[in-house]
Amino acid sequence: MNPALRHEYLAALGLQSWVSRGTPAPCEAAVAPEPVIAREPVIAREPVIPGDSGAGREAGVDWPELRARVAACTRCTLCNTRTQTVFGVGNPKADWLIVGEAPGAEEDRQGEPFVGRAGQLLNSMLRAIGLAREQVYIANILKCRPPGNRDPTAAEAAECLPYLEQQIALLRPKVMLAVGRIAAQNLLRTEVTLGRLRQQVHRFGHSQVPLVVTYHPAYLLRTPTDKRKAWEDLKFAREVCARV
Ligand code: SF4
Repeated sequence: MNPALRHEYLAALGLQSWVSRGTPAPCEAAVAPEPVIAREPVIAREPVIPGDSGAGREAGVDWPELRARVAACTRCTLCNTRTQTVFGVGNPKADWLIVGEAPGAEEDRQGEPFVGRAGQLLNSMLRAIGLAREQVYIANILKCRPPGNRDPTAAEAAECLPYLEQQIALLRPKVMLAVGRIAAQNLLRTEVTLGRLRQQVHRFGHSQVPLVVTYHPAYLLRTPTDKRKAWEDLKFAREVCARV
């Protein structure tokens, strides 16, 4: 990435810029040694994360069919209060899959995940590692907004997760980035804190997709002092992606 542009993006994150020693392309060139990643990825040996109901291996479901199924879904009561479903957006051949928890008010209105200020910060975070929003795929565990932006219930997450599994089966990403505690804990079926889930390579589903955890941009807007940690997580994920 152009150093001036990189500086600009990092500044947008509220972070001091590193001095670039190269111009790595997304993912493939992520092994470039700048900035130095202090810690080697720890490939989780065990336990293998379950995260796969088998729905992702359903034959004959393509993107249009899956989108239509989600749009018509009434599996949980969130269908009664949504404006529309929020299926996901991005490159259907992306190496990166970004997963959040659920649509908020603005996402519910626009039908697209990660819009508004949190979405803009996510875009800046991605650009800081050389990725345009259009290069990745972005989705949530829940496709419908929980009223009042409350946390999803376990039952709602269980009902909706098969759709994400089907998206993963179609996408076949090299790396998943779970943003926020709710997304991470639901995907990994754990109650371990986000702080302890960071900086590790977890595995998701039947295809054992590498999964890295970081903070939700909405949290980072409230707690900008943790942006530095998020930046470390993104670099970590980039290195994981480059090794796949
Ligand atoms: S949240 Fe998911 S399972 Fe519930 S109605 Fe919406 S699409 Fe269906």
